[in-house]
Amino acid sequence: MSGQHNSFVDLHTHTIFSDGLFTPEELVAEVSRLGFTAIAVTDHDSVDGIDRARAEGRKRRVEVVPGVEMSCNVNGTDIHILGYYLDYHQERVQDFFARIRQSRLERAERMVAKLTELGAPVSFARIKELAGAGAVGRPHVAQAMLEAGAVASISEAFERYIGYDGPAYFPKLPLTPLEVISFIHDNGGLTVIAHPATYGNDELLYTVIAAGVDGIEVWHPEHNERSVARYQEIAEKNRLLMTGGSDCHGGRKLGRVYLGDICLPYKYLMTLKQRLRVNQ
Ligand code: AMP
Ligand code: FE
Ligand code: FE
Ligand code: ZN
Repeated sequence: MSGQHNSFVDLHTHTIFSDGLFTPEELVAEVSRLGFTAIAVTDHDSVDGIDRARAEGRKRRVEVVPGVEMSCNVNGTDIHILGYYLDYHQERVQDFFARIRQSRLERAERMVAKLTELGAPVSFARIKELAGAGAVGRPHVAQAMLEAGAVASISEAFERYIGYDGPAYFPKLPLTPLEVISFIHDNGGLTVIAHPATYGNDELLYTVIAAGVDGIEVWHPEHNERSVARYQEIAEKNRLLMTGGSDCHGGRKLGRVYLGDICLPYKYLMTLKQRLRVNQ
């Protein structure tokens, strides 16, 4: 592998296969333009964008790390787990994600019913259309609400209706951290807890560490300097991997692309790959 010195990676991104706006090709073209050496594609509950990103990566000499972002639940809090290098071609992996996506669809339908009851009717057909072949999520619901004129902005949709404390919020499939982590491990991958500062409570982080997570996402646009220092320390103490990424949704979040916000030195990806080899 060449160019590991002074080279940077982004280990957290989304495409149209979940709630991102870039196609896998557009995403890879953009990271190539920004000068990244490697990128991980980590769609919510889908691995369907990885092969297309890898094909584009071969053309543009960008290393594409296969990944995914899964959700689990601890005492009602939605916690995200990133999975890297899982055997994403395996049928049982694809089937499991298809099942999770189906339950996301049913959840979106429940949200539509609730929103209608609340006087903010929105079309389920339009939500499905916006999600296309990808995992449907609240950003698609918010977009459909905006289009229908039920809200004036995506943020308003989250604040008034579908945010965690909103009246039309419904939780996803209640997987436990152990279930998600074991699923990734059983399929050859490594796990990292995503954006821990966003959960508002580090007790949850220790629950996830106890469940066997391999690393902590230390660098994320929503982490300030203090949380970065803190998660670095926790990772070191617990001999956990450290990762970072932009969580780019291609402009979906607050109209910003985020790509380029986090430039993680390649050595962190190197360490992750070494850990993977030790496990095999
Ligand atoms: P879901 O997986 O369906 O619960 O949707 C979660 C996704 O919604 C996150 O991954 C973000 O992309 C997006 N999101 C969460 N909160 C907000 C917010 N306040 N404004 C815009 N997007 C948000
Ligand atoms: Fe998202
Ligand atoms: Fe996340
Ligand atoms: Zn994400």
